[in-house]
Amino acid sequence: MGSKMEHAIQRIVVVGGGSAGWITAGLLAAEHGHESAADFSVTLLESPNVPIIGVGEGTWPSMRSTLQKLGLSEIEFLRECDASFKQGTEFVNWSNHDAPARYIHPFSLPSEFASLNLANYWLDQRQHSDFADFVSPQAQVALSGLAPKQCQTPEFAFNVNYGYHFDAGKFAQFLQRHVTQALGVEHVLGHFEQVISDEQGDIAALVLSDGRHIEGDLFIDCTGQRSLLIGQHFGTPLEPVDALLFNNRALAVQVPYADAQAPIASTTRATAQQVGWIWDIGLQSRRGIGYVYSDQYQDLQGAESTLRAYIAATSPGVETASLALRPIEFQPGFRQQFWVRNCVAVGLSAGFVEPLEASALALVEQSANIITDHLPRTRQVMDIVAKRFNEKMHYHWQSILEFLKLHYVLSKRSEPYWQDNARRESCPDALVEKLRLWQQQPPWHEDAPRIDELFPSASYQYVLYGMGFEPAQGGSARASHIREQAKAAQVVRMNRERTEKLRQGLPSNRELLTALVGQSG
Ligand SMILES: Cc1cc2nc3c(=O)[nH]c(=O)nc-3n(C[C@H](O)[C@H](O)[C@H](O)COP(=O)(O)OP(=O)(O)OC[C@H]3O[C@@H](n4cnc5c(N)ncnc54)[C@H](O)[C@@H]3O)c2cc1C
Repeated sequence: MGSKMEHAIQRIVVVGGGSAGWITAGLLAAEHGHESAADFSVTLLESPNVPIIGVGEGTWPSMRSTLQKLGLSEIEFLRECDASFKQGTEFVNWSNHDAPARYIHPFSLPSEFASLNLANYWLDQRQHSDFADFVSPQAQVALSGLAPKQCQTPEFAFNVNYGYHFDAGKFAQFLQRHVTQALGVEHVLGHFEQVISDEQGDIAALVLSDGRHIEGDLFIDCTGQRSLLIGQHFGTPLEPVDALLFNNRALAVQVPYADAQAPIASTTRATAQQVGWIWDIGLQSRRGIGYVYSDQYQDLQGAESTLRAYIAATSPGVETASLALRPIEFQPGFRQQFWVRNCVAVGLSAGFVEPLEASALALVEQSANIITDHLPRTRQVMDIVAKRFNEKMHYHWQSILEFLKLHYVLSKRSEPYWQDNARRESCPDALVEKLRLWQQQPPWHEDAPRIDELFPSASYQYVLYGMGFEPAQGGSARASHIREQAKAAQVVRMNRERTEKLRQGLPSNRELLTALVGQSG
C-alpha cells in the first residue's frame, strides 16, 4: 500500500482517436484542465496505421450538451461536419410486411410527461390517431421535413428537441482540432504495441512501435473493436448477445443527392428488410445509408442486392450502380467489466450492438461524463469508482438490449428472421415480464426508474404503440386515470394547436441549415 495508493491521478492517457477518444479526452480536459494545469495532463495516443471506424452518424439530443461542455460553436460544428438536425427515428414496415406502415420515435417526451400519462387517455381512442401525433407535435414536424427551430433561435436552443446527423470522419477531425488547440490535450501519433505493468498489475506505461514510452495514472481504452487494453491486455471477455440481437454485419454507403437543394430528412429512417433493416441518414451534402443484417440469414451477395435495391428505389435521378459498398463485421456484445484496475474502456472497445437507436455515442457520452465527474483523485479510491462504473454500465447495457429487442418481439412479419427474432427464448426475461404488465397498464416512470436512464418510459411507449401493441381487454383506463381525463383532453387540444403553429412557423431542415451554415463565422 502506502505511497502508490495515495498517488494523485493526474496523467490521463486516452488510447484511440475515434469519436470515443476525442469526446472523452475533450470532456476530461474541459472539466479538469484548468484546476492545476502544471500537474494535470490529458494525452491522446492514436495509431497512424489504424483508421477510425468512420461510421456512426446519428446522435441523441445529449450531443448538444456534450458540444456545449467542450466549448464548441454549433454553427461551426454544422459547417465543418456536414451535419444536420435529427428529431428522432422513423421506423418503416417494422410491424407487418403485408400492411406497410411507419411510426416515429421522436426525441420530445409526451406533453406533461412528468405528471400525466397520456397513454391512458390515448388507449381509449387509439383508432383515431397515432400515439406519437396524439402526445406531441414533434412527429408531424419531423415527417413534414421541418427544422427543430427557427433561424433566429440561439445555438443549442429549440422549439422541438433534437440531436444531430453528421459525417463521422469529419467529426473526429473537428474534435481533434478543437480539443488539442483550445483544451490543451496532447496528441501523440504512434502505434501502441505493449503494456508495462507495475507490481500490482496496473498499467504503468505503454510502449510504442518506435520504442517511445507513454506513462500515465489512468488509461482510457478507446481502441475500437480491437479493445487492446481491456480486452486483449486484461483479458476481459466480451459477453456475446447474438442469441438475442442477431445482427452482426453492416454494409455502408454514401449516396449523393440528385440535386444540391434536395430536402434533408428530419429523422433517421430505419426501413425493415427481410433479414434486417436499412438506415438512411440525410446530411447536408449526401445521404449515409447502411444495411444491418445477420450473416446467419443472408450472405454478402444477398445483402448487397438488398441494399442496392433500396438505394435504387429511394434515389431517383442518382447514378447508383457504381457506388462502393463498405462491409463491416461486428460481434454483438459487451465486456463483462468496463473498468479494470487503472484502465477503463469507452466506445467500441467496451462493446457494440446494432445501431438501431444510435445508443453507442450516447453511451460514450455517458461514460465520459461519469469518468469526468467522478475522476478519482487518488489510486486508493479508484477501485470504488470502478465498481460503481461497472454496475452502472451493466445496467445501461441491459436496458439497451431490452429496448432494442422490443422493436423485434412485437413484429408480425412472417419471414424466418423475424419469426425467430420474436421467439420467447430469444427475449430477455425482464422484457417478457414488462410486456405482460403493459397488457394491463401502459409504461410509466416505474418502468425506467433511474435518473440517468438511457431510455425513459416514454421511449417504450413510442415503440410499443407505434408497433401496434394491444393491451388486454379492459387493460387501459383505471379510475384514477379517468379523473385525469379533463386535463388530458386539454393537453391534447393544446398539442394540436401547437402542431399547427409549428407547421406554419418552422423552416424546412434544408432552409435552416442553408441559413445557418451560410452565416459568416
Ligand atoms: C455499422 C455501424 C453503424 C453505427 N452507427 C451509429 C450511429 O448511428 N450512432 C451511434 O451513436 N453510433 C453508431 N455506431 C457506433 C459508432 O461508430 C462508434 O461508437 C463511434 O464511432 C466510436 O468509435 P470508437 O472511437 O470507439 O472506435 P474507432 O473509431 O474505431 O477508433 C479506434 C481508434 O483506436 C486507434 N487504435 C487502434 N489500435 C491502436 C494502436 N495499436 N495504437 C494506437 N491507437 C490505436 C485507432 O487509430 C483509432 O483512432 C455505429 C457503428 C457501426 C459499426
